[in-house]
Amino acid sequence: MTKVSVAAGLLWLAMAASVAAQTPASGGASPEGRTTFVQAGRLLADPGSGIVHRDKTLVIRGNQVVEIRDGFVGPTGDEGSVVDLRDSFVLPGLIDSHVHLTSEQSPNGRLNAVTQSEATQAMVGAGFARKTLMAGFTTVADLGGSNEAVFALRDAIRRGDVSGPRVIAAGSAVSIHGGHGDINGYRDDVMHLLSSESICSGVDDCMRAVRLQVRSGADVIKITATGGVLSNTAAGLAQQFTDAELAAIVGAAHRMGRQVTAHAHGVDGINAFLRAGGDSIQHGTYLDDESIRLFRRDGVYLVPTLLAGDYVARIASSPGNFFTAAQTAKALEAGPKMLDMARRAHDGGVRIAFGTDTGVSAHGDNAQEFALLVRAGLTPLEAVQAATVVAAEHLRLSGEAGRIAVGMPADIVAVTGDPLTDVTTLEHVAFVMKGGVVYRDE
Ligand SMILES: [Zn+2]
Repeated sequence: MTKVSVAAGLLWLAMAASVAAQTPASGGASPEGRTTFVQAGRLLADPGSGIVHRDKTLVIRGNQVVEIRDGFVGPTGDEGSVVDLRDSFVLPGLIDSHVHLTSEQSPNGRLNAVTQSEATQAMVGAGFARKTLMAGFTTVADLGGSNEAVFALRDAIRRGDVSGPRVIAAGSAVSIHGGHGDINGYRDDVMHLLSSESICSGVDDCMRAVRLQVRSGADVIKITATGGVLSNTAAGLAQQFTDAELAAIVGAAHRMGRQVTAHAHGVDGINAFLRAGGDSIQHGTYLDDESIRLFRRDGVYLVPTLLAGDYVARIASSPGNFFTAAQTAKALEAGPKMLDMARRAHDGGVRIAFGTDTGVSAHGDNAQEFALLVRAGLTPLEAVQAATVVAAEHLRLSGEAGRIAVGMPADIVAVTGDPLTDVTTLEHVAFVMKGGVVYRDE
């Protein structure tokens, strides 16, 4: 939707300035030139190694870790400050590979779609971004929202005007007309007004859609390879793009240096996308042995989004169910299958990156995914790896996120318990630093 761009953009700038005044939180003055000594009682600097070090000090200057020293050390003069995490477990900032920062499911969701401007969506997103960061997630991939709202939010966080995680943004999903990523369930003239330029039919038209997303600022291309649970159409969960359209989309994106990630439930759509050379699959509900073979052959990542499956099944079977009949039927069908899916994929050796589809469930609850991954058979360490080193590889951010190391941005969280014994401790993060700035220290 570009029709309102100029007015909405000016309004957005005015409002962003007022948000800047209240951020960041405690101790969060500009990190320029300051040295911070983070004293860590237990330190999992590289979750890939699984090694927990005792009694270390992270020396942070500007936005980077510049040194990791043995024992607890502090400033010799008055050139720095100390953060005492001697009784805490310190690990890299967490990464969620699938969120929707500019919306959240609610009984008002269908009304919000026709009442909220792009500027309002961006401002709502600023609040959700802050909740996400406070929950310990310092990097996220936003896999669907309006281009204007999502890209404005991403850029405002990058400038430091708004507190939030680093955002890798897809903007509008590329979807078929009438498909899961299209507007649906309204009268025809309303749908004509709200439909996005990223909706396409046919090989040439879908290449056009990908190229327009890149031009608008997409870091990654998100497609809806199959039907979806929460679209208000009784169109099932099977393949939606043709094989030829999938190949055209992946080719067009790769030629412009963009990865393609696919929302996919039905096994026909999962396997067709994998054969087309896609980079990662979201959900993966009905994957089979052939899918597992293709995932492994091409090193494709699976983002199981167990929290979304758990959440929609709970809502659909509750007395307060606010889903439509079409949504309820799909939620009850797909939700309960997802734990078993993740177990089969993990047993089969598929690389699993942490992602929640938050925006379906509530922002800030992202860490509830850890316990579900452990129920699906991952060890707590594997679940932590999924949300750090593996997610960073998946998002092509290994040099910037997922580890605490000299020369990397200082994205650091801490909890009081031991997440490698009880992974639910990550639901109560007590300390958050992003890029050398402390946002939470309770
Ligand atoms: Zn999603």
